[in-house]
Amino acid sequence: MNQPGAVPQQLDAVVVGAGFSGLYLLHRLRQLGFSVKVFDSASDVGGTWYWNRYPGARCDIPTTDYTYSFDPELEKEWTWSEKYATQPEILDYLRFVADRYGLRSDIEFSTSVTSARWDEGERRWRLTTDRNQQLRCRYYIMASGCLSMPKSPDIEGADRFAGQVYFTSRWPQERVDFTGRRVAAIGTGSSGIQSIPLIAEQASQLTVFQRTPNFSIPADNGPAPADRLKRLGEDRDGYRLSARWSRGGIPVETTDILGVTASEAVRRQRFEAAWGQGELFGILGVFADQVVNPASNEIVAEMIREKIRSIVKDPETAEALCPQDHYFGTKRPCLDTGYFETYNLPHVRLVDLRKQPITSITEQGIETPDESFEFDAIVYATGFDAMTGALVAVDVAMGGGLSLKDKWAGGPSTYLGLMTVGFPNFFMITGPGSPSVLSNMAVSIEQHVDWVVGCLKDMRDEGFETIEPTPLAESGWDQHVRDCAAITLYPTANSWYMGANVPGKPRVFLPYIGGVDAYRRACDEVVAQGYLGFQMAGPGGEQCRDGVIRRMQPDVAMVLEMMAELGLPPLETLPVADARAFMTAIAATRPPSPEVGEVTDGVMPGPDGDLPYRLYRPAAPPEGPHPVVVYFHGGGWVLGDLDSDDPLCRDLCARTAAVVVSVNYRHAPEARFPAAAEDAFAALRWVDANASELGGIPGQLAVAGWSAGGNIAAVACQKARDAGGPDISGQLLITPVVDSQMTRPSFSENGDGYILTGALMRWFWDHYADPADRGDPGVAPLRGNLDGLPPVCIVTADFDPLRDEGVAYARALEAAAVPVRHVRARGHTHTSVTMVGVVISGAPVRAEMAEALRGFFPAPVRASRTAG
Ligand SMILES: Cc1cc2nc3c(=O)[nH]c(=O)nc-3n(C[C@H](O)[C@H](O)[C@H](O)COP(=O)(O)OP(=O)(O)OC[C@H]3O[C@@H](n4cnc5c(N)ncnc54)[C@H](O)[C@@H]3O)c2cc1C
Repeated sequence: MNQPGAVPQQLDAVVVGAGFSGLYLLHRLRQLGFSVKVFDSASDVGGTWYWNRYPGARCDIPTTDYTYSFDPELEKEWTWSEKYATQPEILDYLRFVADRYGLRSDIEFSTSVTSARWDEGERRWRLTTDRNQQLRCRYYIMASGCLSMPKSPDIEGADRFAGQVYFTSRWPQERVDFTGRRVAAIGTGSSGIQSIPLIAEQASQLTVFQRTPNFSIPADNGPAPADRLKRLGEDRDGYRLSARWSRGGIPVETTDILGVTASEAVRRQRFEAAWGQGELFGILGVFADQVVNPASNEIVAEMIREKIRSIVKDPETAEALCPQDHYFGTKRPCLDTGYFETYNLPHVRLVDLRKQPITSITEQGIETPDESFEFDAIVYATGFDAMTGALVAVDVAMGGGLSLKDKWAGGPSTYLGLMTVGFPNFFMITGPGSPSVLSNMAVSIEQHVDWVVGCLKDMRDEGFETIEPTPLAESGWDQHVRDCAAITLYPTANSWYMGANVPGKPRVFLPYIGGVDAYRRACDEVVAQGYLGFQMAGPGGEQCRDGVIRRMQPDVAMVLEMMAELGLPPLETLPVADARAFMTAIAATRPPSPEVGEVTDGVMPGPDGDLPYRLYRPAAPPEGPHPVVVYFHGGGWVLGDLDSDDPLCRDLCARTAAVVVSVNYRHAPEARFPAAAEDAFAALRWVDANASELGGIPGQLAVAGWSAGGNIAAVACQKARDAGGPDISGQLLITPVVDSQMTRPSFSENGDGYILTGALMRWFWDHYADPADRGDPGVAPLRGNLDGLPPVCIVTADFDPLRDEGVAYARALEAAAVPVRHVRARGHTHTSVTMVGVVISGAPVRAEMAEALRGFFPAPVRASRTAG
């Protein structure tokens, strides 16, 4: 220990934590010749597995997978005895690892790092420990754990209890014996669910106080699974590689079966298989859509509730144990051994805190409004201040400036979960914004450590001493983390993933839910692009490659990946008939569309024969008549029909409570310019004249269209203005074609790879309009007179070749004093916002579109209640 005034020890890196992360970090950094010291407040290695010694503590990822994989020799030397190893066995393993690689000599135990200050002059961190040691280091790495900061029980009188008090997360080293004791267990998360059956075996009386029931499935523990051992034995490297590139860090078979469309028999069979298998990633993946679709999720949830009801004999207790307030999986589900069965024992009782809250803890026990309980011991299984607790517990700050705690007061903000702006050379292992607690953490930890160590080596090789993310990169990553969560049901739960278990903690979804594989790809790409989003400095000079690694909505990226995997020929290489047949085939694979009140098909007279239309009437209430929206489908004037845009029309109808009349106009090349635009104008006039018969309110008419449909919608509005009618209340133009010039930057940026390509757009133009006609406002409305047009809502998408012409149209309309609402579909392509039921991230955009449409019409007159 340094004495006051002594020269602080200087190191390349200080690592906080000697669990899975810290041990591997120490090993890797040493291998590369960095000087390192590790601190842990525990008296030995192990981290989680040092502290959580409660009865029943086990991993819930099969131990064959929850293990280091960096050294094949290590794997040969260690054999796990069970499918889910106990805490003592995992701790033994980590001790074995520490000894095998001679790590202990660089670890200081029973020592907490308390503060960290960045010294800009020295470009080093100055660290202080609770033993008053001072250290200087170039790199400060928190391997301090996601679930290492216990949450204090926020119950009145908790310190008053005179009996024995235990925390599952700080369990004593010596054996605890509850034989003959009256025990209270507070908390029914993972630790509670694991420990309660074993406490019940000893206690004379066990009372479980439950605030939130949790989903749990039987672990079906036993020997390590034979199929996994076989796969590992045959091809260890291949197995580990597939784990690294899997969604959760463990190779599992994924399914594309949707809960909502599967037959009852398939649902039951898949659920029972997962229930019997006893693995988290199995039950979390019964259906492909259970994470995103409430109806599908409910199928799994209800089947678990059925199991609970079949196990627990007392119906009232069973019901209290059935989770009803969150979607399955949105709080970490548990694996148990005899948990629900425990409630059938005569000396075990469940107290439902929602009906009977704890008012205080007394010297003798626990008080609720109706009862006083006396206990000899209280066991708190109340969880952790997860993911950020240990990071902000250290007083981390820039020399006299911003502290990490302050920076994160509204929620953590990181780049890749690895670093955070304003804190150079400060790394986190499995920090917020990384897959961490949603994954097999052994795999995530190795990936993080490898990335950090690789980065430090690259910096040393290039002569850089400092590294820090850029604000743009960090805000881009934060946004991506939020986007990934937003398409799932996870943010709906009051979970510790959301920080909801800690009073006052901001509610943000903390981990990255995009998957271990997607995350690894992003990290690798950052490096391949010369540390995109990082600035580095040192004797080697300065380098900053600013940028955002993921700008696309995650489900849009998924759709593009799936399309790319299909290896389909580009549409523009097909004869028109084949391209149309292809579109029809694609449409047949769509999920069910939103329900509306009524759908009827009809025909209306057009300039050159009848035009088919489909009318969507909203479900009551409100009763009709309704405003009317005339809609034109997309497809480059060549493709598309009433079916192609049916889901979008239903969606618009359901969201706006307007009658939507979708009109099929004449297509090119059979009918070239100006046929489609003329049909559109004729349709507007006919619908306007027949509004009442269609169930519409006369005079409340808007026009909408997507892509080429947006083009003819815009043109029809110009025609209506010039013709003196009909009166259009507003126009919704969704990623429209508004100009024939294909040289704007969005064409070069997005002209390839995002479904609508530059080549396809040229094909559309060639079929629709002669080059000589392409400057005509009837085909390029941007070039027309924009004065006096109805209000516009225009949607542009980031990854659309047509983006910039849409933006130009919005600006030009504004300049012409037309009211414009410009909706930027962030992270979307030309087609994705219209993919109802497929691209979930399109829903908020469509909600905005619908709001704009509703805003075009006068507020509906509500039936007023007359007194008397
Ligand atoms: C009961 C339980 C079961 C779990 N089961 C699984 C599982 O089955 N699968 C899975 O993937 N994950 C599981 N986890 C998550 C588990 O935390 C990780 O898998 C992994 O052990 C984390 O390792 P780590 O080294 O990153 O952090 P930890 O193991 O938490 O180690 C962090 C260490 O840092 C120390 N520390 C923190 N702050 C300071 C400081 N300021 N100064 C000094 N020392 C400090 C702590 O004392 C601790 O020892 C479980 C967690 C718990 C609590």
